[in-house]
Amino acid sequence: MEELHARTKLVHTGTRRSRYGEASEALYLTQGFVYDSAEQAQARFVEPGEDEFIYARYGNPTVRMFEDRITALEGAQAGFATASGMAAVNGVLMALLSAGDHLVAARALFGSCLYICEEILPRFGVEVTFVDGTDIDAWTAAVRSDTKVCFFESVSNPVLEVIDIRAVSGVAHGAGAVVVVDNVFATPVFQKSLNLGADVVIYSTTKHIDGQGRCLGGVVLGSREFVRGPLETWLKHTGAAMSPFNAWVMLKGMETLVLRCEAQANTAEFLANRLGGHEKLARVIFPFAGDHPQCALARAQMSLGGTVLSLDLRGGKPAAFKFLNALKIIMISNNLGDAKSLATHPATTTHQRLSADQRTLLGITDGLVRISVGLEHQHDLLEDISQALAAA
Ligand SMILES: *Cc1c(COP(=O)(O)O)cnc(C)c1O
Repeated sequence: MEELHARTKLVHTGTRRSRYGEASEALYLTQGFVYDSAEQAQARFVEPGEDEFIYARYGNPTVRMFEDRITALEGAQAGFATASGMAAVNGVLMALLSAGDHLVAARALFGSCLYICEEILPRFGVEVTFVDGTDIDAWTAAVRSDTKVCFFESVSNPVLEVIDIRAVSGVAHGAGAVVVVDNVFATPVFQKSLNLGADVVIYSTTKHIDGQGRCLGGVVLGSREFVRGPLETWLKHTGAAMSPFNAWVMLKGMETLVLRCEAQANTAEFLANRLGGHEKLARVIFPFAGDHPQCALARAQMSLGGTVLSLDLRGGKPAAFKFLNALKIIMISNNLGDAKSLATHPATTTHQRLSADQRTLLGITDGLVRISVGLEHQHDLLEDISQALAAA
């Protein structure tokens, strides 16, 4: 057969059936595993086989099903699932970096990723340089012979910047650095960062992969050499394992991932088109919108524009708060990637920790509202946003 399509892989890949022949993936709630003999236990500790397990911190059959399914979707060689997206980010950076190393990161990062790069890594002797991720000359100027990792998000949170993955990978690889992409906003459905030159891809599976607001999770995808080598060694000894229950929820979420993401992205694009030019809005930010500064790059790197759009309200914080408080269907939350549409005011929540200058540098104005588009009907969402804008 030809290479299977994503939707088929997402329903079947990785399934391990027990002797009962269950149709739906089994949930193996077990910490440990027993052996037929002392010899078997010894052999498994020397070199566990593909489908052999020792302890749930190292691996579990339900978690492995999820890892195999997301690995197949991404087209990676291997994956390791973690307790949260941040456990994945932290695990990758800790596995790759040591005291004395240099990291180059895009400035526009998810709040906790920025905290790790800005506050935690320097405490362990890692030097960090932040750049404007959209400026390739800035990456070239920042990368040095001791640069071990280049780290960024594309699309970024919350101003939806798009970074040229192929160009940054070229710069990084020229210096021998590993390229790590946090691909949450682009989703595994719309962007294949490994094909564009990245070495490691990270997801918070809390977002679109669960997609229904239930469980935390994360995953790291990359080469077998990295994932089964330094990454697995770091993660299995430091305890960031995904719970089997969460892996089972993620497995079921994967079955509908393409359907949900496409529906949500089509609605996001519809809303961006319909809201562009609205008198109450200084800007509508959406990667596939014609006035997005990296629209052409976004269309080259991604198959759809993603499920998030940002609205910059004229009238700053008072207008943004009136707008948020007037929404009837869309709920106020700092989360994203949910079946329910969610609205966030980054300046006072997710990016509150930053100074006003830092927020200005990142384009996070007091009027900016990020909207994570859910599965509701597009006309209901347009009506909700329109009436809330009228109230602002
Ligand atoms: C949510 C998110 C994370 C962190 O994931 P958690 O599952 O909340 O730990 C990291 N990066 C991006 C871009 C995210 O949206």
